[in-house]
Amino acid sequence: MARLGSWIKAQPEGIYVAPADAWIDPSQPKAKALITHGHADHARGGHGAVLATPETLAIMECRYGPQTGQGIAYDETIRLGDVDVRFVPAGHVLGSAQIVLEHKGERIVVSGDYKRRPDPTCPCFVPVPCDVFITEATFGLPVFRHPDTGSEIDRLLHRLHADPSRCVLVGAYALGKAQRIITELRARGHQEPIYFHGAIERLNQLYKSYGVELGELRHTGGASKAEMAGQIVIAPPGALNDRWSRRLPDPVTAMASGWMRIRQRARQRNVELPLIISDHADWDELTMTIRELAPSEVWITHGREEALKHWCMTHQIKACELNLVGYEDEDD
Ligand SMILES: [Zn+2]
Ligand SMILES: [Zn+2]
Repeated sequence: MARLGSWIKAQPEGIYVAPADAWIDPSQPKAKALITHGHADHARGGHGAVLATPETLAIMECRYGPQTGQGIAYDETIRLGDVDVRFVPAGHVLGSAQIVLEHKGERIVVSGDYKRRPDPTCPCFVPVPCDVFITEATFGLPVFRHPDTGSEIDRLLHRLHADPSRCVLVGAYALGKAQRIITELRARGHQEPIYFHGAIERLNQLYKSYGVELGELRHTGGASKAEMAGQIVIAPPGALNDRWSRRLPDPVTAMASGWMRIRQRARQRNVELPLIISDHADWDELTMTIRELAPSEVWITHGREEALKHWCMTHQIKACELNLVGYEDEDD
C-alpha cells in the first residue's frame, strides 16, 4: 500500500499537489497556486492563476494589482485534475481558509495559519476530520498560552483612561491584526474615533467593503496633537519607533502580538504596554485541534516544529516536519 499522502510533494518552495498540478502558498511564482490567506509570506505575486477565497483574491489585488484566477467561496467544492478541493474557514484573518484536498479516498487538510478563538473580522475555524493534517506551529511551545482577548483589550482601555493627556499607540500588523483590534475595542464599548497610520487605510477600506464594522476611523495625517490626546492610534509595527510617531501626543507604545509573551521581544521594540493578542493558535489550540481531528499523520509546515512533533508522537500520531522555506512568523 502506498504511503499516506504520497500524492502531495513537499518542496522547499511550497506544497505541490501532483494530481491537481497545483501548488499551495508557493514562495516562487507558479502556473497554478492555491492560496490559504493574504499574508505576504503565503500570498506572493506573479502566479499564473490564483485560486483563493474572494476576500483573499481582493487582498492580493490590493497588494499586487490585478490577478488572474478564480474566487472560490467557502465550502464550494471544485475539481482540479483528479482532486476535489474545498476552502474552509481558518479563523486567522479575513478570507483565510484551510484547503481540504480529497484524492482516491484520502483527505488531506492544509490549514495555512489558523486560530481557534473567536475573531469578529472572520468566520471561526471549522474542524474537518482528515487522514493527514498539515499544520503551522508558529506558537508550538507549551510556554505560548495566549490570555483571554477581552482582558488584554481591557488593559489597553485602562491604560488609555489613566492619562488623558497621552495617546496609546498600538503596533498591529496591517492585514488582520489592525482591523481585529479595532473591532475588539468596539465590542468592549469603545466608541471614540480611532486614529490610523496611512499604511493601513486600504486594508481598513477592504475590510469595510466586506461588511466588517470598524466604527469611526480618522487618518492621523489630518489630526492635531491636541485632538489625539486620550485617543487610540493604530499603526503597523514598523512605525512604532519611526519619526512619524513624533506627531503624536506623548504616546504610550503598545504592541498587539503573540510574541509579546516574550519580554525580550517587547524590549527590542521599546514597547511599554505589551498586549498578547495573536491570530495564531497557541499551544493549547494546536494540541486541541489535533486531538479533535484525530488524523493518522500530522505534517508541520513552519514555526517551532520540534515540541509539537514530540507531542504527536507521545499521542501515537505520526508526525514530520516539511522544511518549507519562505514562511515568516513575524506576521503576528
Ligand atoms: Zn498568516
Ligand atoms: Zn504563516
